[in-house]
Amino acid sequence: MRIVLVGPPGAGKGTQAVRLAEKLAVPHISTGDLFRANISRQTELGKLAKSYMDAGNLVPDEVTIAMAKDRMEQPDAEGGFLLDGFPRNVSQAEALDRLLQSEAITLDAVLDLEVPEEEVVKRIAGRRICRNDSSHVFHVTYSPAKQEGVCDVCGGELYQRDDDSEETVRKRLEVYHTQTEPIIDYYKSQGLVRTISSLGPVDEITERALEALKAEKAENK
Ligand SMILES: [Zn+2]
Repeated sequence: MRIVLVGPPGAGKGTQAVRLAEKLAVPHISTGDLFRANISRQTELGKLAKSYMDAGNLVPDEVTIAMAKDRMEQPDAEGGFLLDGFPRNVSQAEALDRLLQSEAITLDAVLDLEVPEEEVVKRIAGRRICRNDSSHVFHVTYSPAKQEGVCDVCGGELYQRDDDSEETVRKRLEVYHTQTEPIIDYYKSQGLVRTISSLGPVDEITERALEALKAEKAENK
């Protein structure tokens, strides 16, 4: 199955991507991982991407697309893949379509994780991280530390990352609305979009996603 996963920051997209890829036995292809892999292996594309990132610029679409193409041509992606973080705008979506057409393959579904904007802000802006160990993560509402500002695990100081401030979250949401959301309409015109709510326990969201993908498959037959 070939799937594109979309959703705003804070929708739990990364978590669901890993779980769905495992359930569907397809590789999880995320742009973050692609960048890291190409940069650490010092591929030409990796060097190019790094030069943009080092200068504080966005990596151009062509570079991202070329990396995605490389990855989708690996043998393990023959039976399908789950794309996460790509495409992130309409021009990337069009490039992906051209790429798939050239390989004579098509997408099966675009899974859209929906979460209300205020919930996104609450989820992200409430995160608190331990200064000693960034894997010690708390949330002021959903998993508060026993003593405010102090890590339950090691007693370290809890803080809010700059990236998690309400202002930054709202900016990222704005970028999502203007850049990424239009791809949902783009794929709706191809009849590929399955929208599910990304609220509730992680397991339930995965179940919902698998059901929605099954429905898509049946309709395509
Ligand atoms: Zn800690």
